Formats: sequence, C-alpha cells, structure tokens
Amino acid sequence: MTGKMRKRGSVGITNATIVPMDQGPHVIKDGGVAIYDGKIVRVGRSREIERICDRTIGIEGKLVTPPFLNAHHHTYQRLVSSPKPSMRLLAWLSDVLFREECALSKQDVYQNATRECNEFLRSGVGYLILQESNLVYDEVVRACCSSGMKAAIGRYCGDNNRVLPSCIIEHPAKAMTIINKYRQVYGKGSRLKFSIAPRFLPALTPKALATLKDMLDDDIITQFHVNESLGELELNKEIHGLTPINLLDRVGLLHSHTILSHVIYATPSEKETLYERKPVITISPTANMQLAGDLAPISEYLKNGLLVTVGLDGFAVTRSKTYIEELHTLSHFTDIPQQVIIPRVLLSSATVAMRLFGGGQLTTGAYADILVLDVATESPWEYLSQKLNERDVFSLVLNGEVAYGEPIL
Ligand SMILES: [Zn+2]
Repeated sequence: MTGKMRKRGSVGITNATIVPMDQGPHVIKDGGVAIYDGKIVRVGRSREIERICDRTIGIEGKLVTPPFLNAHHHTYQRLVSSPKPSMRLLAWLSDVLFREECALSKQDVYQNATRECNEFLRSGVGYLILQESNLVYDEVVRACCSSGMKAAIGRYCGDNNRVLPSCIIEHPAKAMTIINKYRQVYGKGSRLKFSIAPRFLPALTPKALATLKDMLDDDIITQFHVNESLGELELNKEIHGLTPINLLDRVGLLHSHTILSHVIYATPSEKETLYERKPVITISPTANMQLAGDLAPISEYLKNGLLVTVGLDGFAVTRSKTYIEELHTLSHFTDIPQQVIIPRVLLSSATVAMRLFGGGQLTTGAYADILVLDVATESPWEYLSQKLNERDVFSLVLNGEVAYGEPIL
C-alpha cells in the first residue's frame, strides 16, 4: 500500500520497538505496524506507517512482537490426576489417565478449556497446537472458538485394543471423517485448524497405520508423541517391529507437515532421517523431566536446521505454569545459554505459526496477530531471552482485533 493507496479504515500502531521475527532477530526502533482488514500491510519506521494509514495510535514505551505459540498441549489433562513423583509415562497412561479420561464430564471439559484459553491469551499466547481426547473433542473446539484463540486442534485416535481401553478406541478413518466435517463447518478461516493425532504409534495397529497416509491431504498436519519414554520405544518395537522414527519414515508420514512431540531419544541414523525430512519438534521440559527424566538433544536438532518449539503438554504435569515460565524451565535444563535458546525457540515458533495460521511473523500479508508488551527497552532480545514476564502483556491482537488486554486499536 503506497501513500496514494491509503485505504479508509487502515490503522497503524507507531512509536514502538518492533521485533518482527520474520527474517532472523532484527529489530525496528521507533517502528510501527499498519493494519487493514485484519492483515498487516506494512511493518516499518513510524513515519512510514503514519504516511499510509488513515489513523495511527502512538504506543511509546512498548515492545511489539508476534504472539507466542504453545506448540503442544492437552487442555483435558488438567482434569485428570497427576502422575506420582516416580511414575513413568506408560504407567501413568494405563493406570490413571486412560481410565479417568473415559469418565470426563463434557461440561467440565468445556469450562476448563475456556479457562485455559483465557489464561493463555493473558500470558501472551495467541496460538495453540492441541491434542485432545476424541471423547471431548467438540467441547474443546467450542471453547477455542468462543475464546477467539487460534488453535490447531488434533483429534486423538487409536485402534489397538492391546494398548487402549475400549472406551477411547477410535479408528483413524473415523477420526478423519469427523475432522473433515469440522473443516467444512469452520471453513477455511484462519483461527481454527483441525488435525489428526494418533495418541502415539503403539496405539495404532500396523493395519491402521498403513492406511493413515492415504487419508491425509496437503492441508492437514499430523501430530505424534514420539520417543517420549523408553517404555514407549520398547512397546513400539514389539507392535510394529521398528522404532517410531523409522516407522513414520517408512509409511511416508515424516515431513514438514508432521509435528513430533518430545523426541527425547534418537539414534545417529534416526537423527539423519529427521534432518532430511524436517518435521517440527516440540519439547515439553517439565513433562519430559518428570515422565522420562531427560530432554531431547536440542542443540543438535537446532544445529541441523530443525524447528524446535516448546509446549506445556498439560497441567496435570506442569501445574499451571505459563508458557513463559516453561521457556525459562527449558533454559535451566539445557546447556545452551538462555540468551541463545529462547530466541531460537521464539523464531522457530514464529515460523511454525506462520505456516499453520498465516500469522506469527510481523510481515506484509500476514494476519495482524500482534503482542504488545509494556516494556521500554533498548535491547529487546535481551529482555525477551532473560526478563520476559507475563505481567508485561499489555494487549494481544489476533486478526486485527483485540483478544486480550488494552483496546489499543
Ligand atoms: Zn502430550
């Protein structure tokens, strides 16, 4: 949009420090963002934004970034019992989680998911990648929809009655039929995306797994818990005869539309496969330390070009931590300096959000998804990596509309 093409109704925010997260860590001082019809039409210096916008709002002393992405989460898990301190993953799943999941109240799930969406918006998270129980999927979709949150909502499936109790069994073909109905109802809107999430690979029979790839189209992402515990690895070998990474590669499900959660263990040859196929990796530091006692080799993954994001996983384990607290937890458990790992995760997350939701980077043509932090700083990356605090969230804008906080537009 040039000066001549100034559009009635265009609005700009100006006089802020902008961290666009579009091409590396660059910063625009005394900058702004021009918005028209829910999308960003220019990011640049304040003077430029003033010239092209119908109306501008100066927000001196504020830091402007894309909203955060919580890249792996289950809202319903707040309603099930936490694992005991020494409990490993498989024991928690079979002895506690599956049983309690089958007895969930739909009303509790809806109320809790609404509460969690609002908590996330308050703490600067504008994007969620969820995996939710097929038994309460509709309640979570409705809660995300009414909160205005942007979410990719994975529907659990699994048909292996050796691993799953009958109450939660759902064949992936049935899950896909249901997901396609949601896609029709919610259309191609940018806020909600629907995806398929086999609980983990042992939950699928080899026959069901073999049919999964043919059910997917280019628009759909798949989410898997992969290599989250040694017990899962053993179980997977028993059922499928291969490790999860080799198995996914063999059936053609390992690519940039695949989100792999945890990936704590990988052999050198499996790592090479990951670097070639480039799935998105999600780390959940608190849950990984609790349920496996270890974290993925994050620095290797980053060094070899993988996008590494962070997800809270579920409040049954993280106990109401915020996304920002989980970023700090990650930096405590890795040997990568905080001022390196947090920017890398934020930049990876911005790329993933852009792919999934068409926002997440402050750039022309993206949805106007903007996080305003009440921070006056000369060194925004130092703030983001070392002093970031949810109390500084001033306003969160999605598609050019204020979703939380001060009505800046
Ligand atoms: Zn999980």
